[in-house]
Amino acid sequence: MPEGDTIYALARRLHEVLADATLTHTDFRVPRWALTDLSGGRVTAVRSVGKHLFMDVERDDGSAVSIHSHLKMEGAWDVHRLGTRWRRPGHSARVVLRAGDTEAVGFNLGVLEVVTDPAAAVAHLGPDLLGDDWDPDLAVTNLAADPDTLVGAALLDQRLLAGVGNVFRSEICFLQRVSPYTRTGDVDLPAVVQTARRLLWDNRVRSVRCTTGVLIRGKELWVYGRDRKPCRRCGEAIVRSDLDGRVVYMCPRCQAGAAAGG
Ligand SMILES: [Zn+2]
Repeated sequence: MPEGDTIYALARRLHEVLADATLTHTDFRVPRWALTDLSGGRVTAVRSVGKHLFMDVERDDGSAVSIHSHLKMEGAWDVHRLGTRWRRPGHSARVVLRAGDTEAVGFNLGVLEVVTDPAAAVAHLGPDLLGDDWDPDLAVTNLAADPDTLVGAALLDQRLLAGVGNVFRSEICFLQRVSPYTRTGDVDLPAVVQTARRLLWDNRVRSVRCTTGVLIRGKELWVYGRDRKPCRRCGEAIVRSDLDGRVVYMCPRCQAGAAAGG
């Protein structure tokens, strides 16, 4: 499941190959956009907002649109040289964009639409952890709005702050020594927000997600995916549970305190 850092890196990669390129062929394979043809348009930018991806296109008539996509659980964007074999099944392709001999294909996208007002498509999102306009104070205010929300649930709520996914929520809570089941009213929220920003920022251009600072295979994360393995800090067995329908990992000893404090 991609998080904000993955989409940021994906946007950079797509920007490198598509920015300033003229689309020579577009094929939207979803009913609503099947008749849309953006060929002749020039890609002005590919960028991320939270976990949302935008490809801004200036059409040949001068109007501007954006191809908005979201990977959700299964989605992916691949870039190929035209004529090479795709790495994923053709029937899962939702959109094919060609620019010269470059082909970008979106597979199994959870959201795919062509919008004239990209800002409206993400107006519901909280501050983007990797955005140029990142606003930590607003993120803290949003997280604090309902003090009875569990911090593990609040961190995934993209309306409060945008970019944290399931891996980072477990890692952030561990680093703050706070149980994901703690009410936000009992958590040092500025510290949580600062940790979230640091983790996403450090990982925005990495190919392997790492929160421990140890880029050795199997040692990159503190708790996520480490059910029943010893805590890297205290040796206690890591516990896996379900919070709001998504799996969460924690160390019952390191994260036993109700309040994070200092
Ligand atoms: Zn521990």
